[in-house]
Amino acid sequence: MNRLARLRVEDIQAWVGEMHLSDRKGQTPYYIPVLNQVHPEVFALQIHCLEGEILSWGDETLTFPLMSVIKPFLLLYLLTHLGEDAVFRCVGKQASSYPFNSLTQLQEDCGFPRNPMINSGAIALADLLGGETPESRCENLLLWLNKMGNCQLFLDRSVLESVHSCPNVHNQALSLELEKNGYISDRYLALETYNQICCLSGKIADLASLGKLILASSFADIVLEIMTNCGLYEASQQSAFEVGFPTKSGVSGALLSIVSDEGVIACYSPLLNEQSNSILGLNLLTHISHFIKEN
Ligand code: GLU
Repeated sequence: MNRLARLRVEDIQAWVGEMHLSDRKGQTPYYIPVLNQVHPEVFALQIHCLEGEILSWGDETLTFPLMSVIKPFLLLYLLTHLGEDAVFRCVGKQASSYPFNSLTQLQEDCGFPRNPMINSGAIALADLLGGETPESRCENLLLWLNKMGNCQLFLDRSVLESVHSCPNVHNQALSLELEKNGYISDRYLALETYNQICCLSGKIADLASLGKLILASSFADIVLEIMTNCGLYEASQQSAFEVGFPTKSGVSGALLSIVSDEGVIACYSPLLNEQSNSILGLNLLTHISHFIKEN
């Protein structure tokens, strides 16, 4: 029997309740004002089992931007449309030991982005999307995800405006370094495409449906391996050891985990730890992983 399907809402409720407020101290991203102002206690979780059971807790009506959780889907889209050779000419598969927006990492690697889950790798991949403008590139990805993932993502323009209101110097420097080393052809187009796809937004059910798209894909093995090694930035190795599910986080507090052969876990809780991963989301994943091992 699917062990994820044995979880009950009462288990989730108890684990959320157990987590003392003092353990939930964290931050929201100061450089994206609308995300910085989100109420820290908002919360949503959905688990979709492959046989069809859905477990839901929290506010299903909340919408939030995927931010970096879009990165495995950008990778999946490009693997499907361009193939492995084209993708891995522009980006590696290696874990990084520096933060997600580190220029030092990119410079140490002579401008070749380590993996598609950090900003440099995703900006390099955004440069490969088809379309003349950032808008049309973002739209192509959005339409494909909604069709294939059976979900209703949309571009949240208020989040995009907020991203534009505080130009991100780290991402600008990464784009310049990528262009200088020949890994992207147009840094303005690549960066703005990246900004837009990070603002693709939806509800918790959309995120869970998207997760199933990875599981159904013939590229699942590659995407899941990269999520395991790189999806939580510098915390990836520790999480692979403690939790064991391929996971991707975003600075909005979105978190997506794939439990092979069983289903997906989608969570949204905005307070982030030092590595920019959702504190409550990671805590729940640890509980769920223990539950699965014991059942
Ligand atoms: N757009 C965000 C940034 O570039 C995404 C990072 C994230 O979600 O980890 O900072």
